[in-house]
Amino acid sequence: MIDREIREHGDTVTQRTIPALSPIPHLMRSLSAQELLQVWEQGLNQPSVQRALLLLAAACPETSPQLLAELSIGQRDAYLLTLREWLFGSQIASLVTCSNCGDRLELTFSVEDIRVPQDIILQVLSLDVADYQVQFRLPNSLDLMAIPTRYTHNQNILAVRRFLLERCLLKVESNSSEQPVSELPAEVMEAVVAQMAEADPQADVQLALCCPACKHKWQAIFDIVSFVWSEINAWAYRILREVHTLALAYGWREADILAMSPQRRQFYLEMVGV
Ligand SMILES: [Zn+2]
Repeated sequence: MIDREIREHGDTVTQRTIPALSPIPHLMRSLSAQELLQVWEQGLNQPSVQRALLLLAAACPETSPQLLAELSIGQRDAYLLTLREWLFGSQIASLVTCSNCGDRLELTFSVEDIRVPQDIILQVLSLDVADYQVQFRLPNSLDLMAIPTRYTHNQNILAVRRFLLERCLLKVESNSSEQPVSELPAEVMEAVVAQMAEADPQADVQLALCCPACKHKWQAIFDIVSFVWSEINAWAYRILREVHTLALAYGWREADILAMSPQRRQFYLEMVGV
């Protein structure tokens, strides 16, 4: 069904199978309406990286926040994808605008289409290129939070890239002697960045799109954090309106209304004519 829908819209989804760091935490669980509403409230004025950690902390209450923040971005996104599936189902529907003709494309795919299997644990990666031996790790949420705001405000992508790379380099050697990280040649840096992307493919999900109207083709990044947050935002507004209606009609407490199944809430909403 989904394959057919994807073909109808002319879209295909890029997938690569590459080893990553660790499996989905077995201690993760879904969130109740009450818990999800709390996360939404806490994350309202937070940057994307914090919203992702709030969601994971709520879903993995037995895992330390430090450990969650140290997940590679691909691992973090894999967990968020699973959480999204538990909260809102496996189907993803999104609207994108063609950059060529301005037409709106309806994009439909499943969580499985963009999930990259992860089995192997790699804590430290190494690379031997152009007489340089480099050891490095993958960027995580702590690295993203450490990016100086002067870089993000100016959207200085190159500076952000260099900053993240330097934080993640563990050891740089050339001709058996240790080298300063800041003097790494550009080609070696490029090779490290490429290897990072290959080792953490879930961090960079790209959708290959084709506009049915004008046949324009392009690659779009699928950002699970902003996608799931916009869904949570829409859900929160809807459920708060429902609470308002039912509290007004029956005098019930917010916690009791939130604890109801969506079906039962819907039944009472229909009873009061909504
Ligand atoms: Zn188009």
